[in-house]
Amino acid sequence: MVLVPQSMAATRVTTDTLRGGADIPASHPTPGDVGGVCERVFVSTEPTSSRASILHADLDSFYASVAQRDSPRLRGRPVAVGGGVVLAASYEAKRRGVTTPMSGRAARAMCPGLVIVPPDFPAYTTASRAVFEIFRRTTPLVQGISIDEAFLDVSGLHRIDGSPVEIAARLRRQVAEEVGLPITVGVARTPFLAKVASQVAKPDGLLEVPPDGEDAFLHPLPVRRLWGVGEATAARLNSFGLQTAGDLAALPEHVLVGLLGGAGGRHLHNVVHGRTATALTLGTRRASIGAQRALGQGPHTPEHVHAALLGLVDRVTRRLRDADKLASTVVVRLRFGDYTKASRSHTLMQPTASTARLAEAATGLLGSASAVVRARGLTLVGVALTGLVPDVVEQPELSFDSAVTGAGRGPAVSVRDTRMLDAALDGLGARFGSGALTRGSLLSTGEGLSAPLLAEGGEDD
Ligand SMILES: [Mg+2]
Repeated sequence: MVLVPQSMAATRVTTDTLRGGADIPASHPTPGDVGGVCERVFVSTEPTSSRASILHADLDSFYASVAQRDSPRLRGRPVAVGGGVVLAASYEAKRRGVTTPMSGRAARAMCPGLVIVPPDFPAYTTASRAVFEIFRRTTPLVQGISIDEAFLDVSGLHRIDGSPVEIAARLRRQVAEEVGLPITVGVARTPFLAKVASQVAKPDGLLEVPPDGEDAFLHPLPVRRLWGVGEATAARLNSFGLQTAGDLAALPEHVLVGLLGGAGGRHLHNVVHGRTATALTLGTRRASIGAQRALGQGPHTPEHVHAALLGLVDRVTRRLRDADKLASTVVVRLRFGDYTKASRSHTLMQPTASTARLAEAATGLLGSASAVVRARGLTLVGVALTGLVPDVVEQPELSFDSAVTGAGRGPAVSVRDTRMLDAALDGLGARFGSGALTRGSLLSTGEGLSAPLLAEGGEDD
C-alpha cells in the first residue's frame, strides 16, 4: 500500500522534478491518471511519521564537561563534580568505574588521579540556556526533557536545511563552537528510538536509526538499554533468560503481559516492535509545579523524610490536576546538612497526573540518594513536576518497573482505580479544604511549610 501524504496527494510531477520519491508504475491505476497522457504520478512512499526526523540531543556528562571546558588543565583527565558525593563524572572517570551517586572517597579509591571539583550551578544554567537557544534556532518544535537534553522535530525542514542527519551534524557543530560542549544526537522516527540511539552513541556521537533498520538496531541491545526499563525490570527479564530486545520481540504479547503485568507487558511488546508515539509532547506554557519543605537541622528519621516527601507530592499533584495538566518528569531536590544541594530527576514513559505514579517516582529518587542523605543529613526536600502537558488524553500506565516492583507490595492498583481515588480526594479537598484529608504518615510529622520551587535540576549522562 502506498501512503500519500496530504500535501502531496494532489501533486503531479514529472520525472525531472522528482527528488527522492518512489514512482507508481504507469500501468497502476491512480486517481490522477488521465487517459492518453504520458505522465506518471509520483508520491512519496514515506509519510512524515515514517521518516527518521526526530532528534534526541543530550549533552555528554554535562556538569563535568562544563568543568573541563572552563579549566583546560582538566581536559583529558578523569573529573568528578561534587564534594562528599559525585554528582557527575567525565567519561575519563566513568571509564574507570566512577558512577553517580558515589561518595568522593569511593570514587578516589576507584580512580587514582581523579580530580574532584565543586559544582558551578550558574555556569550550568548559562550553558543550558545557550544550548536551548541553538535547539530553538534549529526548529520551533522543541520538547525539553531536562536541563541538558531535548527532543527536536525537524520533519518540516528537509528542503531548506537538509536531511535530519545533516541538521543533527550541524547542531552538534554549533553547540561545540558556540557553547564549547560535546553533545550526542540520536536520529530516528520516534522519540523513544531517538533517545535510545543517543544513549548508544555516547559520548560525542551521532547515530541515525533508519526506519527500515529499526529491528536491526534495537534487537541486539540489552533490555536495560530500552528507555523505561529500569534495573528491577531488567533483572526480572534476565532471570527468565531474556537478555536482549530481540529476545522479547520473539515472544507473543501475552507472555510479556504474564511477566510484567498488563500495561507494562503490552507496552514493552509495542516498544520492541518499534510501535511508540511518533509526536513530541509540545505546547507547555508553565514550566513546572513545585513545592519544598525545610526540615530544620536533623537528624531526621527516613520515615519522617519520606512522609515529608509524600506530603509535597500530594500538594503538587493536586495543583497539577487543578491546572488540567499531566507531568512527564519528577524532580526531587535535596539540601544537605552542609548546605550543598543536589537534584535527581526521573522522566516517565508517558505523562501522568496520578499521585500514586508520581509518588512512586519521587520515592525512588529519594531512595537513590539515601546513602548521601545518611552521610550528610538533610535540611530541605523539594518536589517539582516538569514537562507539563495539557490533560487531553492520558495514556495507559507504562512504567515497566512499577509493574514489577509493585508486585511485592500488596494488590496491584490499576490506573483507573488511582485516578478515581485522586479525583475523590481532590473533591473532598475542594469541599472541606486541602487540610481535610492527609496521609496517615503525615499526622505525626505535620506537613510543615512549603514554598514554590524555582531552581532546575539536571541529570548526568
Ligand atoms: Mg546528558
